[in-house]
Amino acid sequence: MERNITTLGIVLHSRRWGQTNRLLKVLSVDLGIIDVVNYGAQKSHKVVKAEVFCDGQFFLYHNPVKGDYTLKDLKEIAGHEEIRDDLALTYTGLFFCELLIKVHGGESAEVYTLLSKALDLLTFASERRTLVLIQFIHRLSEVLGIRVDLDHCPICDRRYESNEIVYFSSSAGSQCCEGCAHLERTLLLPPGARRYLMLTATMDFEEAVAVDLNPGALARIKAYMLGYAQYFCPSQLTTLTSGLL
Ligand SMILES: [Zn+2]
Repeated sequence: MERNITTLGIVLHSRRWGQTNRLLKVLSVDLGIIDVVNYGAQKSHKVVKAEVFCDGQFFLYHNPVKGDYTLKDLKEIAGHEEIRDDLALTYTGLFFCELLIKVHGGESAEVYTLLSKALDLLTFASERRTLVLIQFIHRLSEVLGIRVDLDHCPICDRRYESNEIVYFSSSAGSQCCEGCAHLERTLLLPPGARRYLMLTATMDFEEAVAVDLNPGALARIKAYMLGYAQYFCPSQLTTLTSGLL
């Protein structure tokens, strides 16, 4: 493998590493999610700042013996600083990052494009934060290849009635009709919410976020999508328990 690597990426996580360094988790287009050491990040102004949510071109050095990556430089495309200025926006962004780290799936270029757009929308359409959150999960399920059509039950193949409430099967990992659902009745999708998700499934991210929902529907779909995200994530999402989403 080449020692100097350039890739588009986004910082998902950053923590102290030794006295003066930081260990980053970077979602990169070319290498997937990787650990990158940013040496000297704590002390000097001259070193590369690579904060969480920063989207840019990463210049990395790969040590083939140790197998690790070092950050040499970062050409920022979007810092998304505005997200860090607001608590709800920050938690929403951190939720996206945590979900991607824990799910660890999908084609990395598609996952990168999804997160990059989601962070841009949180920055420039912050008043539509909840819709960005709903659409991020909706779109991620497609990138992960687990999204099912919401017009029929994937277990028994029956078409839903227009006013039918749809449930969730944790064993199948998908939406299903009431008859095919097991004991779980916590995750349910009312007909209006199902229509909204079907309608926005084929739209661009921006276009989907521009579709208005009344406050009640918004809250219901959000609760459903957060529950759904926890279902397809293999471990507990700590940002979900914050109550700030
Ligand atoms: Zn069924």
